[in-house]
Amino acid sequence: MKRIWTAVGIGSLLVAGLAILLFKTPAVQQENLPLGKPLPDTVTVAVAMGEVSFEGSVLPPEAEMRFVDGRVFLKRSETEQWLDERQVERTEFQATPWVMGETEYISINDLCESRGLWPVFYDQGVRLYRYRLQWTEDAEAENAAQQLGMACLRLEDIMADPTDDSRFTHEKLEKLRVMARWLGDRGQEFSVAWIPIYVSPQEGIVNDLTEKFNWYNADFLYTLDVLAENGGHIGLHGLTHQYGEEASAAGYEFGEDSPFSLAEMEERICRAKAIAVKLGYQAEFFEFPHYGMTREQAEIAEKYFRVIYQQEPWAEPYGYVEMRQTEDHSVMYVPTPADYVWSEYDLEGMLARLSESRENDRLISLFFHPSLDYERISCEEGQTPEGERLLTYDEECGILPAIVKRMEQWNLRFGVMW
Ligand SMILES: [Zn+2]
Repeated sequence: MKRIWTAVGIGSLLVAGLAILLFKTPAVQQENLPLGKPLPDTVTVAVAMGEVSFEGSVLPPEAEMRFVDGRVFLKRSETEQWLDERQVERTEFQATPWVMGETEYISINDLCESRGLWPVFYDQGVRLYRYRLQWTEDAEAENAAQQLGMACLRLEDIMADPTDDSRFTHEKLEKLRVMARWLGDRGQEFSVAWIPIYVSPQEGIVNDLTEKFNWYNADFLYTLDVLAENGGHIGLHGLTHQYGEEASAAGYEFGEDSPFSLAEMEERICRAKAIAVKLGYQAEFFEFPHYGMTREQAEIAEKYFRVIYQQEPWAEPYGYVEMRQTEDHSVMYVPTPADYVWSEYDLEGMLARLSESRENDRLISLFFHPSLDYERISCEEGQTPEGERLLTYDEECGILPAIVKRMEQWNLRFGVMW
């Protein structure tokens, strides 16, 4: 399995700094950076107040939890000892330590991977579980899928919305991780249209993951990492996907009616990209919110991205990948002629639109809001004699499994065009 997030090594740190809740420290070393992740100039470290537990036992405070650029890190020796005492066996996975002063830390990502554990976050911490996925991991199917023709799937409007009626509560983020694991196990690759800053003016929320460190945002980042590790290609879906009084994902951001000047738009696109880079993601594409863009705005995005994930509106016929040449590079426009799954009753409609694309030799490409399948994903604890967390994706009734199955019948798999 690919590992996207790895721990970073950073320079020495003044002990006095530990008394300060938030401080910045220079990053001097970073190893094993897949996808060419750039080294952040500094990492921001904050003390993480909360609880990490496993089978009712709480990690001792000596393990000094930290948020490092928003991700959870734990003092390595104390944490490993705690899990050794609880007979949690190690996997073959080798964790990359993160050194602060003389002390080694381990990310929650590496910890769970190296111990075969599944984290469940809540607002005050995280519970670790042994777990079982309720489907068979089929290495052969995964390999066979690599030989097939290509279709495109994009998971849409992924955002760190911490409100109570969010489509991304802790419970729903866990289900999104199950979806990612299922897709990864089927050998499917997909794109993730991520909105880097969630805004809700009504509720007075501006949630920037690079500024607010808490257990909710740590959960979101962990989930984004799991998506990336299981075949997800992270791209940017605007900066906030809103303006004025609208909430993220409901509003537009760019397009003809946008209140922003071209200079402000360029700044927003750059800021979105900077957030991705800061968090260690290579922003592989840009998608305008609700596809709203003008020619001038498209040219700004073309400066910063090689892939614009929507129909190139000035090209005909529609439904095919278009290439455009800027002064110094080419830009690929990837359309979604099958549109999106409109509701949970639209599976047949989607399959019909995909058939139509296929008959017309268009790109077979759709986008999907993960919440449509959450009813068909369950995460239950203590259902096995070992007390494992059982993670199930109803492959009979799930919308996404039905679409993947149809692709397989057509000898296609989901992947990316670039
Ligand atoms: Zn959107």
